[in-house]
Amino acid sequence: MGLVHRRKTSVVQIGSLNLGSDFPVRVQSMTDTPTSDVQATLAQTRALIAAGSELVRWTVNDDAAAKGAAEAIRLLREEGINTPIIGDFHFNGHILLRNNPRTAQRLDKYRINPGNVGKGRLHDDNFAQIVKIAIDKGKAVRIGVNWGSLDQELLTELMDANARSSKPKDFSEVTREAMVQSALRSAEYALKLGLPKTKLVLSVKMSVLQDMVAVYERLAAACDCALHLGLTEAGADIKGAVSSAAALSILLQQGIGDTIRVSLTPQPKVPRSKEVEVCKELLQSMGFRYFAPSVTSCPGCGRTASNYFQYLAQDINSHIKLKMPLWQKQYPGVEEMKIAVMGCVVNGPGESRHADIGISLPGSSEKPIAPVYMDGKEHKTLKGDHIKEEFIDILEDYIKKRYGKVSL
Ligand code: SF4
Repeated sequence: MGLVHRRKTSVVQIGSLNLGSDFPVRVQSMTDTPTSDVQATLAQTRALIAAGSELVRWTVNDDAAAKGAAEAIRLLREEGINTPIIGDFHFNGHILLRNNPRTAQRLDKYRINPGNVGKGRLHDDNFAQIVKIAIDKGKAVRIGVNWGSLDQELLTELMDANARSSKPKDFSEVTREAMVQSALRSAEYALKLGLPKTKLVLSVKMSVLQDMVAVYERLAAACDCALHLGLTEAGADIKGAVSSAAALSILLQQGIGDTIRVSLTPQPKVPRSKEVEVCKELLQSMGFRYFAPSVTSCPGCGRTASNYFQYLAQDINSHIKLKMPLWQKQYPGVEEMKIAVMGCVVNGPGESRHADIGISLPGSSEKPIAPVYMDGKEHKTLKGDHIKEEFIDILEDYIKKRYGKVSL
């Protein structure tokens, strides 16, 4: 992670996966299918995993969902897929886990929302029941505080104390404090019940960026538990992706965060795996993890001679996406490769020389030739109607020679 030092957190074992500061920041996602619909949940889960999700969370909201989860996990494991599956519980998690021991056994982690486990004495009783099942079965737990369902009794307690204070704080400040206290008090209780720290993850999700960043910074300073980062209710499309990336990157840059999720509002014809793509793109653009060769391409401008340049950049990206599952197996390290696709001579040669392999297309009023650069040197000049095909051949050849396994 270059100059960024991860905040030290204890390793957390979640099924077959470890997370914490000694491991890469993990990508996770959540299905939006009813978990009682086993086939639909499996199909979406496979797609999320294929896109790169390293943990997948499922809603477990009633008995049918709990039974569906147990069956779906059984089928996944039969297929040889060991990705950890997390059960998302609210209100009745203690009952569902108690009544469905197979579900409790097969899930790898339980998410508990301290604001949704009951009120008064029942709050602690229900919370304790879930934690004790987790301890008994060796499962991890995420205490996931969300400001949309913040523990109202705790908020009232802090509000009352604030009202009595000689220097009362404003409402948003007390809410932030309640978010952090909810996570810390719940974590303390879980540890007191006997849950090892190696099974505990915390999150404090809010939907306003500055609030979310502030509460995670405070939580990170107050404990050494592994943290799951997310901007809750981030919205759809560009808004959701940008606001999530902005919020998460501020924290990641400080070394805070052991696993991330980007919550995008579903849109027609947009696959759920988009949220996984955003997580990966974020981690890769920050230089924390590499998933596929990156393509540097300029935005184009009045010097761009034709839209050939746009299509070439797009085609190279599509080619990478198509070939990556194969390249991953055959060419270890290829994910760190840098490719440049540039629109004219102004920045084309320079950017292409910085990349492992790059092409500078001719801008308007330039000679109709496209120099290709390899490892910082001019390698070949392409021209004519098959520049794309020839560049892809050169790219494939380069990858084979540079990343191909040497057979002894
Ligand atoms: S490299 Fe050339 S075409 Fe691309 S943005 Fe810069 S000046 Fe415009």
